[in-house]
Amino acid sequence: MKIVDVRTHLLDFKLDTPFESASMRFDRRQHLLVEIVCDNGLVGWGECLGPARMNAAVVHGYRSRLLGQDPLQNEVLWLDLYHTFRDQGQRGLSLTALSGIDIALWDIKGKEFNAPISTLMGGRFREQVEAYATGSFRREGVDRISDVVAETKRYLVEGFKATKIKIGFNLEEDLELIRQVREAVGPQMQLMIDANHGYQVDEAIALGRRAAAYDIAWFEEPVLPEWIGAYREVKEKQPIPVAGGETWHSRWGMLEPINTRAVSIIQPDVCGVGGFSEFRRVVDMAQTQGIRVVPHVWGTAVQIAASLQAHATIAPAPVRQSPLDAMFEFDRTENPFRQAVVMQPLEHKNGVIQIPNSPGLGIEINRDALEEFKLMPEPGDH
Ligand SMILES: [Mg+2]
Repeated sequence: MKIVDVRTHLLDFKLDTPFESASMRFDRRQHLLVEIVCDNGLVGWGECLGPARMNAAVVHGYRSRLLGQDPLQNEVLWLDLYHTFRDQGQRGLSLTALSGIDIALWDIKGKEFNAPISTLMGGRFREQVEAYATGSFRREGVDRISDVVAETKRYLVEGFKATKIKIGFNLEEDLELIRQVREAVGPQMQLMIDANHGYQVDEAIALGRRAAAYDIAWFEEPVLPEWIGAYREVKEKQPIPVAGGETWHSRWGMLEPINTRAVSIIQPDVCGVGGFSEFRRVVDMAQTQGIRVVPHVWGTAVQIAASLQAHATIAPAPVRQSPLDAMFEFDRTENPFRQAVVMQPLEHKNGVIQIPNSPGLGIEINRDALEEFKLMPEPGDH
């Protein structure tokens, strides 16, 4: 079997109501799918985390090295592609683009051997996952606190047992938001906070000390991801477990935060960290140091499917009668093509998602949706 084509699908939707995290503004949803085609007709799909157009450019940069190659040699191809940009691309887009390719190669392998990717990776520790609702961004033109309170109450009604809210905007307003959300959802719902690296170190420590009264399961990305030592400082000086890792790519990017125990929870994203191959290494590294793994997920149903396969392979740690299982991040923000890109949506029921067990990623792509949400070229594009 040989690779005969590597294609990219840029998807785009302009939001009616833009929303913001502490560090980013979203007025469009844009995601990139990767399609790898083989000479025997097998097709594999992947997705890249991050800026879709730039990921597409890097995937095209890798393309010529993949054509004519055996897709089953995925680790060999991974190293060849990584090495191509090693000197200038040890993390960031070279890894997010490589992730989409790696996922597509694993999808092909699963289809070739008629097994889910999780089975080929060593087996499934679980058949379903407990999802937590991700949303609660600051939306343009609405009162932030009442809007987020109403949103989190909806998740409770939908059956979610956990949700994560966005902070990192303003210390006092963030604390008031946390207080009101906790009051609204009651003591049973797990509540997490995500600052999207919006705070200074002292602010993060102060917020963590005061927010701890509201029973917060984790404090995500309190400070800039480059400041590994600052993560450890925030972890040591306030009581809430610190989480991070959605921007730390590859085994090398994860090495220092894991080995210095800078976080309590590490959050590799299969579409960013380097695909399935690298995800597994990072999980092993984290579990070797006793760090909990709760993956980051943000994208279309292709990313959800890949993350579900990856999730199935995370060993319980520690092994005990009632393991503290990794929860599954389930994005609830507006994105009309999130589930439309597959023929059968990967939805939750009462906050629980079943992990597909058909070959590869276990999804069938809806090509009509790829057409419908195709990013239109801008002037100057060629
Ligand atoms: Mg986050």
